Amino acid sequence: MQDTVNCPICGDKMRSIRERKNIHFIGKIADYVERTCTGTNHSLQITVDEKTEQVDLLKISLSPNYSRFIIIDFYNQKCRVVLLKNNKEESILIPKMIIPDFPDLSKLKNKIKIYALFL
Ligand SMILES: [Zn+2]
Repeated sequence: MQDTVNCPICGDKMRSIRERKNIHFIGKIADYVERTCTGTNHSLQITVDEKTEQVDLLKISLSPNYSRFIIIDFYNQKCRVVLLKNNKEESILIPKMIIPDFPDLSKLKNKIKIYALFL
């Protein structure tokens, strides 16, 4: 996925923070730009490798209170659904890549439903 400065859901300019960091989740250290948008019914975070200008990690909340979200790892081509239940984190590995149909989040939720029936 290509980098974007505007939120792919609402179109607003995202907040960007530049930082060199080690993302344990994907196992990579790089100069990253982290872009975030918190809209009325969505919240998303894009982590872009500054050098390659490619999105390595995309995190989208699937519920307004951030109790469910999907993490799409473009770097390793893996997906994970994380849900918080009674202060515990449960995570479900999705055995294939899920590419969101921006700006429509309901299509994304339908794609995830096959793997995570609780949604
Ligand atoms: Zn937005």
